[in-house]
Amino acid sequence: MGSLEVSSSSPVAVNLYTPKSPFLAVLESKRRLGDRQSPHYCWHLVINVRGSELEGNCRPGQSLGILPHGRYADRALNGLNRNLDGKIRLYSIASPGCGDDGHGETVSLCVKRELGEDEVTGGLVLGVASNYLCDTVAGQSIPLTGPVGKSFLLPENPLEHDYVFVATGTGIAPFRGMLIELFQQGYAGEVWLVFGVPYSTDILYGDELARLAADHPNFHYVLAMSREQRNPRGGKMYVQDRLEENEGQLIDLLRRPTSALYLCGLKGMEYGIYAWLCRSGSDLIRVPPGRDWTSLHDKRRDDPEWGLVEKNRDRERLFKETY
Ligand code: NAP
Repeated sequence: MGSLEVSSSSPVAVNLYTPKSPFLAVLESKRRLGDRQSPHYCWHLVINVRGSELEGNCRPGQSLGILPHGRYADRALNGLNRNLDGKIRLYSIASPGCGDDGHGETVSLCVKRELGEDEVTGGLVLGVASNYLCDTVAGQSIPLTGPVGKSFLLPENPLEHDYVFVATGTGIAPFRGMLIELFQQGYAGEVWLVFGVPYSTDILYGDELARLAADHPNFHYVLAMSREQRNPRGGKMYVQDRLEENEGQLIDLLRRPTSALYLCGLKGMEYGIYAWLCRSGSDLIRVPPGRDWTSLHDKRRDDPEWGLVEKNRDRERLFKETY
């Protein structure tokens, strides 16, 4: 089996609700993620979708659209000079297909408050959808659209594959759902999660992930804490440094035709990971004859060579959702 495409026998639902006719879901519960001391405010939101078409139809790797309303869509108040009224924002589904409730009646999101300053005026800028979601309290409604996305899902017959999941920050969202889903189904393959955060206080779902790792020796959970740990060159410890550190095991695993590499989070990590794949001789990036991509990390982000690398990515086994 080479292709990891999603089975047509288990159709993936998309666009069940649109911006013109969203589903008015209700927030069931929320909890802060990470340590209270973290300057980042991240929340896990459990949203009730009972009785809607979303029930049982939301897979990890897909996203839901959020339609902020009220004061959050008001540009005078949110500090943004763009009018965002009526525009959706996408958030990755962080729960397994059966939801955190086990029956598909809820769907969960992982949301970090976006707080910033206007570069010119120095005024406070609040991310519209993230602050709207983080301020919502249990019992209040949230207009949802979607789900969207068919290209970042677990493959057909997920138990027959091995996985390397690489996340930075809130990019952990889909992997939380996928890991829970895999182990609920009795997964016995090999799965790695390499997770990058600035500090130990920023580890999202830390207890859950540690518990999964303790319960399943086939789950390898590796953290890269960029501002607390150093790589062998004395720089920040990034996910790509952890991949390199575990190269002996990972490259063997990624050589199996049934293995897949999933990347989710910051766009910047892609470059380091692609450079590592080329250096380590992985076939997930097909280096064209006569080309040497072993020193890719020296290339500027706007170098046309990166476009070629992207073109030579194995799209059936290397999936990404990076922003
Ligand atoms: P963050 O906290 O800013 O960063 C997470 C880690 O990535 C930090 O340790 C950071 O290190 C490191 N990092 C920065 N540049 C890197 C690079 N070039 N290579 C490797 N690691 C690097 O992350 P965040 O604010 O949560 O952002 C996560 C991203 O995921 C956002 O773009 C978000 O849109 C996206 N996302 C979110 C969701 C969701 O559902 N909420 C889902 C999918 C994706 P330093 O800061 O120390 O340099």
